[in-house]
Amino acid sequence: MRAGIYLGEKKVVPGQLPIPEPTHGEALIRVLAGGICGTDMMIYAGKHPRAKAPLALGHEFCGVIEKVAGDSSFQPGERVVIEPTLSCGECEACLAGQTHVCKTLRLIGIDMDGGFAEYAKVPVHRLHRYPGHLSDSLAALTEPLAVAVHTVRRSHVKIGDDVVIIGCGPIGLLVGMVARRSGAGRIIAVDVSPYRIAKAQELGWTVLDARQTDITQEIKSLTGGKGADVVFEAAGTSVTAKQMTEVAKIQGQIVVVSLFKQPPTVDLAAMHFKELCLTTTRCYSRTDFQTAIALMAGDQVNLSGLISHELPLERIAEGFALMENPEEALKIIIRP
Ligand SMILES: [Zn+2]
Ligand SMILES: [Zn+2]
Repeated sequence: MRAGIYLGEKKVVPGQLPIPEPTHGEALIRVLAGGICGTDMMIYAGKHPRAKAPLALGHEFCGVIEKVAGDSSFQPGERVVIEPTLSCGECEACLAGQTHVCKTLRLIGIDMDGGFAEYAKVPVHRLHRYPGHLSDSLAALTEPLAVAVHTVRRSHVKIGDDVVIIGCGPIGLLVGMVARRSGAGRIIAVDVSPYRIAKAQELGWTVLDARQTDITQEIKSLTGGKGADVVFEAAGTSVTAKQMTEVAKIQGQIVVVSLFKQPPTVDLAAMHFKELCLTTTRCYSRTDFQTAIALMAGDQVNLSGLISHELPLERIAEGFALMENPEEALKIIIRP
């Protein structure tokens, strides 16, 4: 079969792999669409601690069931989206029902071949059906939307809250959309890229350009001198790690969604004096995934503006090159 194969730093190319053979409890999925994610870019940069070449990348994908090995309620022909997390079932977190923070959590498309391929094999307990009116490209956004659902559920966002989103990449934008559904009042988004700033403006938010504005002062004046009730950090840089404590109100909450490539300096003195709460968030639970599908199915979030490109698998190298420039690409969908 054709696949988009990671071969090493800056090398993701179209190639051939054998069609995977599902064993008991697994389904063979004919992939319809898959999204390139920030984690894929970390692998592409050669900086991911687990992903080992050669590997078919892709953990945000949907497809049609081709066959199922063993008994299952899933049938060939059904369209499904894949929840790519695989937990061990034995560690403290798993035994406590918190499988998304499993001590040895693995992901389809990172620890084993994934969805940038004609076919992928997936355990049936990782499949979710999605409704017929939802397009395949949108269904491929379920996974990042589930990240946003989990993130907002970890926050204290309440009706009317002033919410700041630092970083307007796909995750920042999704978190803002979900926060809005959860009752957030004013949403103030911050970025440095004109393309991403324009994307956030399309959503009707107040958007600040951190290169041209004193973010701290501006957010203070927009919130009547108070600062943000909840700050979502979705940029993952040393600069934004500093901004997050500056723009939060006294006793406000900071939710860090980013995976920082370098451990940043965090102003713990500011956290102390303002008695801030810092919350982190990782992946999603099965419930978050189901909620993400329900939000899309019920048209409660409109994600179509997030997709900047749809490319055939043969052009996957171009897709990864495009993703390196935040002025050109937001979410890129690969279609086998
Ligand atoms: Zn992802
Ligand atoms: Zn575990």
